[in-house]
Amino acid sequence: MAGGTIIRTRFAPSPTGLLHLGHAYAALVAAREADTGQFLLRIEDIDRDRCRPEYEAAIQDDLVWLGLDWQQPIMRQSDRMEAYRAALKQLAPFSYPCRCRRGDIRVALAAPQEGALPAGPDGLIYPGTCRGRPLSDAGPGDVIRLDAERAFAALTLDRIGFRDQAIMPGHDHILTREQFLDGIGDVILSRRGMGTSYHLAVVVDDTAQKVTTVTRGKDLFDSTYIHVLLQKLLKLPTPRYHHHRLIRDDSGKRLAKRDDARAIRHYRDDGATPQDIHRMLGF
Ligand code: GLU
Repeated sequence: MAGGTIIRTRFAPSPTGLLHLGHAYAALVAAREADTGQFLLRIEDIDRDRCRPEYEAAIQDDLVWLGLDWQQPIMRQSDRMEAYRAALKQLAPFSYPCRCRRGDIRVALAAPQEGALPAGPDGLIYPGTCRGRPLSDAGPGDVIRLDAERAFAALTLDRIGFRDQAIMPGHDHILTREQFLDGIGDVILSRRGMGTSYHLAVVVDDTAQKVTTVTRGKDLFDSTYIHVLLQKLLKLPTPRYHHHRLIRDDSGKRLAKRDDARAIRHYRDDGATPQDIHRMLGF
């Protein structure tokens, strides 16, 4: 309990592969953080091309095997398109359709100078080619982007920030408006053919699930600036954040879902017990 509020945390896997050690760690951190509160599960399956129901079933089975148990119902992002549509509508004054493909963006960015292209937590920093196009002009192949400059102006903000329970606790992590515009830029709110983006869905769903503490890997730390900006635009509360360490392999590389050797399934097949996994992850 914190300030009389029940702690609610969530584990939000995308069912694009088997549960591996990195996911198991994220799930165990979220469950531990919930303590006597509530631990929720959210299936992030907006990318219909990459998500598979059999992976979702395998993930749930591994989580149960690890001793985890979550509050019902499970939220599934593929059931939530109506909520994303409503949020996009609310963001209409700060958004525009964009028809640029990755190649167009690369060309526009590379034009002035050679070298590495500027990228942030949402990929390449969009050079603004389509900014100002009206939403009524949106074609079926377009993405919808946030006009970040207009968003900051509407909120009359010159900085955005949040606190993290684990990374310099008690200290505000801040980006100025200029740092946001230069280092993150006009992020995608709705991807081609998906009706939302990760950033929009996560913000809408954390509120819908009444999540009080978002626990997730440090790889998403910079995305949190985007989420806080969207929460302000949508007038949603900002939860507490705890970005945890990433589980790396012996060579220091972050585990990706493709690293099947680290899949919990394989440890199970080799005779590991749930306690072995807990121990390996430092629990
Ligand atoms: N679905 C994301 C992932 O698989 C997690 C998103 C989050 O925790 O905010 O990495």
